[in-house]
Amino acid sequence: MILAPAKQKPVRATPVDDLHRARLLRFVQKGQNGSDCWKWTGAKKRHGYGRIRINFIEYTASRLSWAVHNGRDPGSLDVCHSCDNTECCNPKHLFLGTHKENMEDAVYRGRKMGFRAVGAPDNKGEKNPMAKLTQAKADQIRKLYRAGGVSYGDLARRFGIGLSAVGKIVKGERWAADEKQREEYREDNWTAKPLV
Ligand SMILES: [Zn+2]
Repeated sequence: MILAPAKQKPVRATPVDDLHRARLLRFVQKGQNGSDCWKWTGAKKRHGYGRIRINFIEYTASRLSWAVHNGRDPGSLDVCHSCDNTECCNPKHLFLGTHKENMEDAVYRGRKMGFRAVGAPDNKGEKNPMAKLTQAKADQIRKLYRAGGVSYGDLARRFGIGLSAVGKIVKGERWAADEKQREEYREDNWTAKPLV
């Protein structure tokens, strides 16, 4: 990815492999649909993030999930949740952002404070900023993101929408013209790659 690294925050001290995947999945409860959140049944850390220890190394569950499903270390970037559910380990709900973007997103959507931040919009139904978008704009967002060099945060600011909205568009969960396009974006952005 494209974002300038901040401070180093390695997900692992040893290579993440099939053992990590197996151990992680043991504590994951998947829903009926592929789009459901993956509930974490193991230990938790602050703010509800799952916690798991493998070979004496402690990992944040969602962060480890991103790593094992994408086959690489998120490095200095935060693994952010498009679903606002910090325990969730569904890789479809996880995306990379800078720590600053993650915090801004959390406050904006009222996750961090437990209520909506002052001035943040009520995003339900008609008031949802997604409603302000057009198909053309959504296509532009996907195009820009694919071209590289921009983060979810850049696009969120530019189009005046939240990070999770950007994520849903990029992954084709929103504003896909048809099922074929939805599938294409899903494949493109969510493919379990072989582990390195
Ligand atoms: Zn989720």
